[in-house]
Amino acid sequence: MPQSYRVAILGATGAVGAELLELLESRDFPLADLKLLASARSAGTTLSFAGEKLPVEAVGDRSFDNVDLVLASAGGSISKLWAPKAVDAGAIVIDNSSAFRMEPTVPLVVPEVNPEAAAAHQGIIANPNCTTILMAVAVWPLHQVQPVERIVAATYQSASGAGARAMEEVKTQARAILQGETPKTEIFPYPLAFNLFPHNTKINDLGYCEEEMKMVNETRKIFGTQDIRITATCIRVPVLRAHSEAINLEFAKPFSPKLAKEILSQAPGIKLVEDWEANYFPMPVEASGKDEVLVGRIRQDISHPCALELWLSGDQIRKGAALNAVQIAELLIEKNWLKNRVKATAVNG
Ligand code: NAP
Repeated sequence: MPQSYRVAILGATGAVGAELLELLESRDFPLADLKLLASARSAGTTLSFAGEKLPVEAVGDRSFDNVDLVLASAGGSISKLWAPKAVDAGAIVIDNSSAFRMEPTVPLVVPEVNPEAAAAHQGIIANPNCTTILMAVAVWPLHQVQPVERIVAATYQSASGAGARAMEEVKTQARAILQGETPKTEIFPYPLAFNLFPHNTKINDLGYCEEEMKMVNETRKIFGTQDIRITATCIRVPVLRAHSEAINLEFAKPFSPKLAKEILSQAPGIKLVEDWEANYFPMPVEASGKDEVLVGRIRQDISHPCALELWLSGDQIRKGAALNAVQIAELLIEKNWLKNRVKATAVNG
């Protein structure tokens, strides 16, 4: 009989938490028990899972007793507080926040790219940033054929990237504007409905925001090289769900768009979406709810003989967060790495 596992979702009531619940059910994850954890605000509420109503508990000191695996999606400060306690209690934590991603001893894993890095975990495995995951899935298969030397990315990031309440805020703002009222802001610094603005994370001395630096640093760690030059401009757009990215890739030699299409049409986790005559390419509404990253509009960069342009849309709550985390959990089970606690000094990157 196949083994089953006691799983806890920390942040079960959030945008990523809802997707984790859906994926554990739809992928028939081998569950022995499922514990739903959130803040004290949600304690006593219930969430539906597999036709049952499961109670939500406030996370506390005993929450991780008898838990094999924690899927954490409650934000960085909550992960910093609770992930080490969960590991001490004997669980493995797959963390969706940025809390541990750049720790040298924590694997940063995209299963389509660097599954082997997960073997060296010491209790915590980090799920990369959502825009980074989507880009990594699309760029890695090309990088395998001819190393990418430079990436220039511009992102078009949906409201739900900032959580369930942010998505509601944009809907409320849109209704207000259509009724001639002034939109209110609470989660975002400015109205996002019928507007867009650069990603509202902290800006460093070089003028890059945190989201942009995540794309730079995390991609290098996942690809296991510091040699790729990467720059990004991250923009929040009034799309409810699924992020899009315009990506320019520079190689040492020319890379034919035809070959790039052939490679990407067979690559794991990708769906090639291109109908040039119909001007039909990846769109966030079509990427929403899908496992695959939609990639298209692959063309020669007319300004550089060795560069390619591509465009993608991917569901950042799904492949950019929850699905990637569940795939890591499935990988740990398949490879029997759940019980690994490698005392390595540094892992990938
Ligand atoms: P969200 O919709 O705002 O949900 C946050 C979750 O964290 C809720 O379940 C909330 O519970 C819980 N939480 C908040 N404070 C807590 C506390 N003090 N103790 C325990 N639980 C607490 O956020 P989200 O979008 O799902 O994002 C969650 C994490 O995933 C973040 O680290 C985010 O950066 C990361 N992530 C998000 C996306 C995305 O597209 N949204 C993509 C990749 C990664 P209550 O309902 O009780 O407040």
